[in-house]
Amino acid sequence: MKIANSSIEVRSPGRVAIVNVTGEARSALARSGLRSGIALVTVPHTTCGLCVNEDESGLKDDLARLASRLVEVIRPAEGFRHDAVDDNAGAHLSAALFGHSVTLPVVDGSLVLGTWQSLFLIEIDGPRTRRLDLAFLGE
Ligand code: ZN
Repeated sequence: MKIANSSIEVRSPGRVAIVNVTGEARSALARSGLRSGIALVTVPHTTCGLCVNEDESGLKDDLARLASRLVEVIRPAEGFRHDAVDDNAGAHLSAALFGHSVTLPVVDGSLVLGTWQSLFLIEIDGPRTRRLDLAFLGE
């Protein structure tokens, strides 16, 4: 079995942003030379996440709204406790819901994604430079 690791830096353009990183992941896979196996994509951060969904502008606006507002339904009257530390509890909580990793199959040297699927970095506390770590395992 072969294991190849790489990292990609991604600049998120705003406080909340949905960044399509499918092309970057595909390029990293091509550089790895892996033909068959698994691609594990993770972000080593606590206020951004990853998800797979459709690259449609209205949906990306909806995802941004979800990322920035979903946790507001549980905001206590006295505020989130972590806001006393660095005022970004909402970003941490939303990132926890999206999750920090995505696993995709690799077949014939390509990431297996559906016709309408793209890999997105969900920025919730930007703008920042974020790192994606990719591990390719297989043959
Ligand atoms: Zn924080």
